[in-house]
Amino acid sequence: MFGVQFSKIINDINYVLLPPVCFGCNAQLIRGEQFLCTVCRYDLPITEFNFTQENAVDRIFYGRVPIEKAVSFLFFHKNGIVKSLLHQLKYKNQQEIGRFLGKWYAETVGEQGSFPMLDAVIPVPLHPKKQRKRGYNQVSLFAEQLAQYAEAPCLENVLIKTANTRTQTKKNRLNRLLGSRNLYEVRNPIDIRGKNILLVDDVITTGATIESCAKALLQVENVRIYVATMAFVP
Ligand SMILES: [Zn+2]
Repeated sequence: MFGVQFSKIINDINYVLLPPVCFGCNAQLIRGEQFLCTVCRYDLPITEFNFTQENAVDRIFYGRVPIEKAVSFLFFHKNGIVKSLLHQLKYKNQQEIGRFLGKWYAETVGEQGSFPMLDAVIPVPLHPKKQRKRGYNQVSLFAEQLAQYAEAPCLENVLIKTANTRTQTKKNRLNRLLGSRNLYEVRNPIDIRGKNILLVDDVITTGATIESCAKALLQVENVRIYVATMAFVP
């Protein structure tokens, strides 16, 4: 009993010293709010794209790589709530935002009743060096939530990033051209042979990352790829 009260006191002290703020608008959060204030939560630009109808994310990949269906949860606008939220997730050690968005998105898709049959969920990997530096892959918890909902395993050891993009930009253009083909590689292809895979990332802009990952995965026999991202730049 004393322990519970003591931890409540510590929480209260923390709350006074470091009051949590909304990652959308910086307003102080009230009890019961997490990551976003209620106003920002209602203002989040949800795409309402689903796994059955054609949408703008699908069209990015036409003629580039065969994707069964691509969807995004949110619209990413310059200076918007989604941008600040993802900035916190990626650069400010706020890994839990991924779980928060993943749970919300999985429930949204579930309500639409349009989750495809999935055998595995694969988050777009970071280069191991980059992941060590950041301490986590910002897509992992989001992917994990979707996997849990789809009752499929989340596989983080199948798709590997072999080249570090940052290092690559330092090389000359020719090297970059030669090197751009094999940024990602599949380990343990037997784990995904003949399977329906949901490939997951944070933001889709040009689609280059997803294209590159999908091409690596599609080298394995009879793989079908679905794509889901937290956000999409319209
Ligand atoms: Zn807010």
